[in-house]
Amino acid sequence: TPGPAASAQRRLPVRDDLVGLEPYGAPQLDVPVLLNVNENPYAPSEQVVADIAGAVADAARGLNRYPDREFLALRADLAAYLAVESGVHPAVEQVWAANGSNEIMLHLLQAFGGPGRTALSFAPTYSMYPEYARDTSTRWVVGRRAEDFTLDLADVRAHIDEHAPSVVLLASPNNPTGTALPAAEVEAVLAATDEVPGGCVVVVDEAYGEFRRAGTPSALEFLADHPNLVVSRTMSKAFGLAGARVGYLVADPAVVDALRVVRLPYHLSAVTQAVARAALAHADELMAQVGGLRAERDATVGWLRDRGLTVADSDANFVLFGRFADRHAVWQGLLDRGVLIRETGPEGWLRVSIGTPEEMTAFRDALVEVAGL
Ligand code: PMP
Repeated sequence: TPGPAASAQRRLPVRDDLVGLEPYGAPQLDVPVLLNVNENPYAPSEQVVADIAGAVADAARGLNRYPDREFLALRADLAAYLAVESGVHPAVEQVWAANGSNEIMLHLLQAFGGPGRTALSFAPTYSMYPEYARDTSTRWVVGRRAEDFTLDLADVRAHIDEHAPSVVLLASPNNPTGTALPAAEVEAVLAATDEVPGGCVVVVDEAYGEFRRAGTPSALEFLADHPNLVVSRTMSKAFGLAGARVGYLVADPAVVDALRVVRLPYHLSAVTQAVARAALAHADELMAQVGGLRAERDATVGWLRDRGLTVADSDANFVLFGRFADRHAVWQGLLDRGVLIRETGPEGWLRVSIGTPEEMTAFRDALVEVAGL
């Protein structure tokens, strides 16, 4: 039976495919140890807070005016940051930003998807992807990843040949599995899309890219040779700025020009631009935590394996582990002990975000009790 919302909606012209749907979102609960949405556990330092506050005050003095619609200063700062982080030097015209990489992805599907077009991905993967497709009336096709959560390249090729998608969405590292795409897989997917009539944009979503292990490449390295490749990043994770809502991408300037058509005018507020630029000026300090989080991630993988659990290799700031006959009971048991993780991924698995050493101790202690490890 439809809930009260659905019955009230019957009197409204809500789109047929939206009636009765629940909004996406993990529970926001007030518990001591939050390890459920892959945030950075480290708040900005007081120095960074002071600089952000100063930049916001400056921006406030001009809030009677609309912000810079092209946010060129922010795009230049993001390009400079990427040059240091990845060794790839994008031009300002190759960089685009929006309110989180969620909005980046929406812009991409608004420009390259739409009615009569298809977006393709491979599950398990980020659960917002089908929502961007739905919201832009893009047909959604989802294949499966292999048992070890890597891509089965023959199957990927077969899906691309059969469905001729205009957009392929691949998260690397993938959420919720932590699996990164090796260079050969990125190149194979790009090669497979060469044959799509009408063209195909390959989006590599590197929301967790900065946490990649040594030897794992960034898809940024392939941009120079592939005008249909888009690499998406965010300030929400490694940068520890989830509350500011800043995502960005790097692609051929022709891709960016298409996004400039679909974005709302002034979509990035002057306050957002000021916050992001002030934080980017402290990139070194904010990124200093990434090494520690990576080490804590590797230690968590090792600890879970030592206790006999199955753990997916992770290049991200979270770990998918299992398998539990009743994963909900384990999730609830942890929550009862003040530790919130995420019940996501294939049946039997759970995902924990990497927190501070103290938070990970609380997680391990609670898991030992709950799962009897
Ligand atoms: N892509 C992936 C794979 C994610 O896991 C997330 C956040 N959970 C996002 C994109 C969106 O992040 P944001 O909008 O904060 O940049």
